[in-house]
Amino acid sequence: MKTALLLLLFCLSEAAADDIRWEVKALFQRFKSQLEGQHADMASRLSASETKMEELVVEMQKHKAAMNLEITQLKGEVKGLKQLKADKSCPSGWTEFGDSCYYTAMTEGESWQRSREYCRNQGADLVVINSREEQDFIDGIVGDNRLWIGLTDSEKEGTWKWVDGTPLTTPTYWGGAQPDGGDGGAGGEDCAVFETAQWHDYPCGVASYWICEIVC
Ligand code: CA
Repeated sequence: MKTALLLLLFCLSEAAADDIRWEVKALFQRFKSQLEGQHADMASRLSASETKMEELVVEMQKHKAAMNLEITQLKGEVKGLKQLKADKSCPSGWTEFGDSCYYTAMTEGESWQRSREYCRNQGADLVVINSREEQDFIDGIVGDNRLWIGLTDSEKEGTWKWVDGTPLTTPTYWGGAQPDGGDGGAGGEDCAVFETAQWHDYPCGVASYWICEIVC
């Protein structure tokens, strides 16, 4: 009897052990499945991140290439502009202002016509004053001297024109009652000089200094 009881207890404990082993095994499988699922999710996210990073790297390389190209083009433009400026710089002895170069001849006086011929032989002409700024600039470089400018009414008395063919419009800087036609003898006063920051009509044959302008 006692042996049978022991045998029964042994069988029961074996069955319980089997149940426990089964439950542990099932638990382990569930845990393993969860881990595998999480790993797959992380791997997927990692792969997506890597793809995104690769795309960003490609995009950055494109931007870098575009910027390098732009820098190269800008360097070329700067070089071209420097060359252009060098090409446009004024001849030796001439003064640059705005887009023009100026030469003041203040050693020996000449008639208006001969002064103009001198300028034209230099690839220039007597100055045409187009603005207050240019007027002030010339005033600053001529001092108290009297210089021919490229203004005349020799074609038609009273109708003043610049040597570039443009009519005299505003602004004008005639002094006092100028132009007054004066009593300049033969031919009257058909040419203009720059004197003490103002314009005066003078006989064209009078010897005066002059100022040439090259418009670049
Ligand atoms: Ca001018």
